[in-house]
Amino acid sequence: MKPRLTCLAVPLPMRQKGDRRKSARSVVFLCSLVLLTAGCTGDAPEKPIANDAAPHLSPGIPVAQTRVSDVLAFTRATVVNPSGKARQGNMTVIVRGDRIAAVGRSGEVPVPKGATVVDAQGQFLLPGLWDAHTHISYPGACALPLLIAHGVTSIRDLGGPPAQGARWRQEVEAGRMVGPRIHLAGLNIESAEWINMIDQIRAEHQEVSLIDRIRGRRPPEDFPIWEWSPRFAMASPTDAALAVDTAVKAGMGVVKFRNLRADAFRALLAEANRRGLPVAGHAPRDITLADAAEAGLRSLEHGANLSSLSHLSPSERAEQYRRIARSGMFVTPTLVSDGMWAPDSLVLAVIADSAGRIDPRRRNVSAHQLDVWRSGMQGRNKPVRATHDSAFAAEIGLVQAAHRAGVPLLAGTDVGTLLTYPGSSLHEELVLLVDRVGLTPLEALQAAILNPARFLGLEKDVGLIAPGMRADLVLLRQDPLRDIRNIREIEGVAAGGRYLDSAALQSLRECRER
Ligand SMILES: [Zn+2]
Repeated sequence: MKPRLTCLAVPLPMRQKGDRRKSARSVVFLCSLVLLTAGCTGDAPEKPIANDAAPHLSPGIPVAQTRVSDVLAFTRATVVNPSGKARQGNMTVIVRGDRIAAVGRSGEVPVPKGATVVDAQGQFLLPGLWDAHTHISYPGACALPLLIAHGVTSIRDLGGPPAQGARWRQEVEAGRMVGPRIHLAGLNIESAEWINMIDQIRAEHQEVSLIDRIRGRRPPEDFPIWEWSPRFAMASPTDAALAVDTAVKAGMGVVKFRNLRADAFRALLAEANRRGLPVAGHAPRDITLADAAEAGLRSLEHGANLSSLSHLSPSERAEQYRRIARSGMFVTPTLVSDGMWAPDSLVLAVIADSAGRIDPRRRNVSAHQLDVWRSGMQGRNKPVRATHDSAFAAEIGLVQAAHRAGVPLLAGTDVGTLLTYPGSSLHEELVLLVDRVGLTPLEALQAAILNPARFLGLEKDVGLIAPGMRADLVLLRQDPLRDIRNIREIEGVAAGGRYLDSAALQSLRECRER
């Protein structure tokens, strides 16, 4: 079979023989596949991007007026660097354009004449946050200002139309859109064998799904969302060079794969390494996670993908975790995205709740995002009546074990999937990492600031408040090291050479795209 770019629909759970636990997992897995791929909008009309002020992106904030043209000075701030000496009081940080020019004790570092001064006494200045697993095409263009409004100044996007992602990245870099730095990984290198299997399942199942019954509709006519995200179908290891080349030409800086067997996975890794690209993915098949990590897999997406370790004996499992930790492979738990396991009644109630009575964030959810959520529900051909607490607890246990073994984590949300929201879901993920997994607030900040930069080899450019580093900064009213929930107390954000104060950030939060 020839490699191809294709769009996939995965409307039904995989039927798999085996024990109950296994088949339950496959249902969840395939539901997540539906969600993870639901954002393909290859043919969907796109919103025009304004060339100057991008008013639909930043209502009320002419972009040009927010630019820091000369010098910005934070004075009397407590600097929180998630590496080294974590907290330093009474500091001055001078920013020129989008770079940090000087850092030192207030009174010892001169504030240049004419600088815009932000008196940050009693406040906490930290490097900008990352969301290390997004699908920004699902919520749409408003995701960009919303992320900034929540202090997320960089993202790693793991799936969506590559051309759209590349265009948004360019607009942000050019200063025409308010948004985080976008690192694209969204062209999935997918197993052709898996694609064929899904095709077969689709052909065998034509019944009307839950959401269609509710809405009295039948797919796919009423669901343009069933245009799926483009992916490269990899039929054999010999396709590796073309797969990586296709990803590079599509603007990807990371190679993402799913469902590959060991031989294809190893060939893809070798080719990606040759081209200098890190590889992220779900667990490859026919190979242990430790072997995959030692072969060079740089990040494993979703805590649930650690489940291949759960059938091992405790000593075997511990050995796998030790080897994974030594390899330096990251794990992106995306715990907050487990809204995909939320009961149908809750998801449908939120979708119907345009007034935002259940969750005020619903008011700003775009029509496109709602379609993605509806299609996620369509992927459930079996009603979900209660939250999967036990499955979630099992996933937490796997992530806990990884963390205790020293496996570095990346804070990511899978934003765009069911009941996730740009920016605020990253804050929720940090709270989950602390409250449920047991990270300290400092470790949670490392997962959201240092580790994503390390994953991309950018640690000399972002993730530290020091001279020469990028001035991606978040100013908080409360100390995040004392309580990670204080990450929500945002007073201002510097990104892309702009400083946005709390009023400007509030405006970004009101971005509406219908
Ligand atoms: Zn994802």
